[in-house]
Amino acid sequence: MNKDEMLRDALESMVWQFGYHGTNGTAPIIHTGGLSALEEAFSALDWDDPHLLEDVNGASCDVDHCFKSVSGSGCSWKETGYWCCCSEHNSDGRDGKPQPTMKARAIERENRRDRKTGILNIQKGGRNDDGRSA
Ligand SMILES: [Zn+2]
Repeated sequence: MNKDEMLRDALESMVWQFGYHGTNGTAPIIHTGGLSALEEAFSALDWDDPHLLEDVNGASCDVDHCFKSVSGSGCSWKETGYWCCCSEHNSDGRDGKPQPTMKARAIERENRRDRKTGILNIQKGGRNDDGRSA
């Protein structure tokens, strides 16, 4: 790794740690919050403000329009799938609240799960669980 790559990695790590995480309603985002140091860092990285993040399996909640971090898997609405939910939605599941609409990527993932073994068939969808091409 050369010096430029090290600087870029270090800058990106700082932006990940100190940038503001949120949602634009349909996708997770990271933004500067109007802080000039972060604006300069975003500019150096050629990132838009807000910078759109990919909504990936296992990172953010499976419930539609929820982008909170996953706090547990397989806790809620077990009869319909092995859902990865945030603490709030896991709590709803434990409290017996009706299952909300789940994200299409989560439904697609659960449709690939073998009901007997619980193992995901990554060949069928042609993608790994984290959304990368298999
Ligand atoms: Zn949630």
